[in-house]
Amino acid sequence: MNTLEQKRHFDTIIERIEQARIRVSEHHIVKIVAASKYVDAQTVRDLYAIGQRAFGENKVQDLKIKADLLDELPLEWHFIGTLQKNKINQLLSIRPHMIHSIDTLDLARSLQERLLRENQTLRALVQVNSAYEESKSGFTPEEFLERYAQITSECPNLHLQGIMSIGAHTADVNIVQKSFESTRALFEKLPNATTCSMGMSNDFELAIRCGSNLVRLGSILFKH
Ligand SMILES: *Cc1c(COP(=O)(O)O)cnc(C)c1O
Repeated sequence: MNTLEQKRHFDTIIERIEQARIRVSEHHIVKIVAASKYVDAQTVRDLYAIGQRAFGENKVQDLKIKADLLDELPLEWHFIGTLQKNKINQLLSIRPHMIHSIDTLDLARSLQERLLRENQTLRALVQVNSAYEESKSGFTPEEFLERYAQITSECPNLHLQGIMSIGAHTADVNIVQKSFESTRALFEKLPNATTCSMGMSNDFELAIRCGSNLVRLGSILFKH
């Protein structure tokens, strides 16, 4: 795709987001994080050139490579994957904008320890496994609020901003919708939370209608 085609394609996605968000409220603003795991740094640069600022990676190594190559651009990097504890130092060295995927107390405590030592803070979301899927990380909806409060008090260098979830992995829209609604209901109980990160290429419009205000889009942006 050339730049003009890319821009047109991006505009069609923005228009779809617009349609979905306006059904919620005129004041409901939705942020796009472009999940760039399928593409190289040059493609990130191209999307930046047509207006996209926030990018997400789910592997620390890939994030490091792209962040280094694109160091001169004012990009906002989001870490959206499962974080192994042995990658914490490398992740923090990149100074990401936010991590979406706090999925255990142990990870939160390890991050806190390292952040304190480095005199840093980090914006973070806590992940909920709202579809109760074995293959997914995150706290169960039942334990979520207690863990969120615990992380808030034990880990002051992690600045919690809200919740992240991956929609149920099924073609049954009702089940996907239930998982989004349960995530949104938890989000609304959080003190001072601003970010409800849910919705990917296959389900972002439904996620927005269920109250998502941050969608993580990969394949729909990059694979066509
Ligand atoms: C890859 C990825 C996405 C984007 O997925 P698509 O279906 O390609 O849009 C969103 N969130 C996470 C955590 C991912 O790893």
